[in-house]
Amino acid sequence: MSTFLGHALVGVGLAAVGLGRAKSPLLRHPLLWMAGAFLGVLPDFDIVVFRFFGHAWAPSGHRGPSHTLGAALAVALALAGVGALFRARLTDIGRICGTAFAIVYTHALMDALCGAGRGVALAWPFSDVAWLSPVRLLPGAAWSRAVPDLVELFGTAHNLSVLGGEMLIFGPPALAAAVWAHLGSRRESERGELTGEND
Ligand SMILES: [Zn+2]
Repeated sequence: MSTFLGHALVGVGLAAVGLGRAKSPLLRHPLLWMAGAFLGVLPDFDIVVFRFFGHAWAPSGHRGPSHTLGAALAVALALAGVGALFRARLTDIGRICGTAFAIVYTHALMDALCGAGRGVALAWPFSDVAWLSPVRLLPGAAWSRAVPDLVELFGTAHNLSVLGGEMLIFGPPALAAAVWAHLGSRRESERGELTGEND
């Protein structure tokens, strides 16, 4: 499994790219990139639910419905609904929807590319087929369900090397996306001040 660090960095990068040039200054705010980090990790909350509430609440365990096309669509549509509720521009609602979908679905794709653990039903609810790369294309942490402490994720040399690898692979693109979004946001603000379009 990719760790929370890899998923969060990818979430930040995609949020910066997806929202960095939005019309609304609120959507361009860097704090929303942090929301991208949260969305990037969101599918793995199934581990927490499973850990604390057991099979009754998470009958399929880790990498169940939260790692699917259906979950990505549900999150994207829910956030687009929030945007509509706050009367966001149609183009900005599209950005919210597309960005949220990309972040949540990329989480599932990353897990499938790790080549370890359970397969991911990428096309659910249209297909139950579970996908898993036959070779490890991304760093993958070893985590045993037999040890109920999530701290294990940080405690072994292998998992520490995975965190370092994820920082090297995903850190620079996330940083580049943040700089690109920041520069674009500044330009958009200046343009809005000139035309009086800022709200
Ligand atoms: Zn996952």
